[in-house]
Amino acid sequence: QEKYDKGLEKTNRTFGERLNAFFAKFRSVDEDFFDDLEDLLIESDVGYETAMQLTDSLRDEAKLQKAKSHDELKQVVVEKLVEIYDQGENNKDSALTYDPDAKPNVYLFVGVNGAGKTTTIGKLAKRLKDSGKSVMMVAGDTFRAGAVEQLVEWGKRDGVEVITGKENADPASVVYDGVSKAKEQGIDYLLVDTAGRLQNKVNLMNELDKIERTIKKILPDQPNEVLLVLDGSTGQNALLQAKDFNKTTELTGLVLTKLDGSSKGGVVIAIRNEMNLPVKLVGLGEKVDDLADFDAEKFAIGLFQ
Ligand code: GDP
Repeated sequence: QEKYDKGLEKTNRTFGERLNAFFAKFRSVDEDFFDDLEDLLIESDVGYETAMQLTDSLRDEAKLQKAKSHDELKQVVVEKLVEIYDQGENNKDSALTYDPDAKPNVYLFVGVNGAGKTTTIGKLAKRLKDSGKSVMMVAGDTFRAGAVEQLVEWGKRDGVEVITGKENADPASVVYDGVSKAKEQGIDYLLVDTAGRLQNKVNLMNELDKIERTIKKILPDQPNEVLLVLDGSTGQNALLQAKDFNKTTELTGLVLTKLDGSSKGGVVIAIRNEMNLPVKLVGLGEKVDDLADFDAEKFAIGLFQ
């Protein structure tokens, strides 16, 4: 029983808690330090390749040898995490793409059920509208009971029109209506919600492919964002989801939700490192204002809190 409790305790502890415990244990930076750090990082959501890269670069880091307090050590690790995150060719790529001539800019939201797609779209619509742009939403998740009503609710609150189809309508046909209408009216942004049932992955991927082709039929340069919405507490499984979805649609970025809970979302460092996908938005709660831009440094510091 004791062993069982310990095991559970270990998995329940967050990456930050484990890192803190780790730093509290060490007095000197020697080979043991690096071996243990490597193990800890591999176990954590940061992932294997990233763990190796991080410890290798820390080994070469003279600064680390000079760091005296735990806080100084942590600061060096934070800097390295940010460096790994920002290594992409264009490290300013966490802004959402906007083409002023595109009417509309189409953002397609994908991800498994419960990740937070509908909520994110509802929040983003309000933010974009408040910035003075015209916005329309498409309820492309015609499969999940309640998904359409949920988006319609957001539409009412935001004062944004929502395009819907009949129950169990072909999602691509609803998207077709949405894109046509937004184009006709010269709308700036069209936010498209999609289904996320994992039980039938092949069908889901075919559906997403069809939706994307439908958009391109009317607007060959769109969608200019395909955002994978990930629940921040998903752990390493998030990397698998990202790889899965990326096979069908060319993802342009991530939305990391539920960072207001205990999850820290360390896995996005691995996703960035292995797939070069930036986080574009983070969800910090269920309310309309609980949406923020991603800040790599704040995020890395947050891993320790
Ligand atoms: P979807 O199936 O991907 O469309 O997911 P939903 O948008 O319906 O969200 C699933 C649940 O997560 C809902 O209860 C949301 O209110 C909740 N949720 C979404 N984003 C966040 C967030 O950033 N923080 C918290 N605490 N809850 C969220």
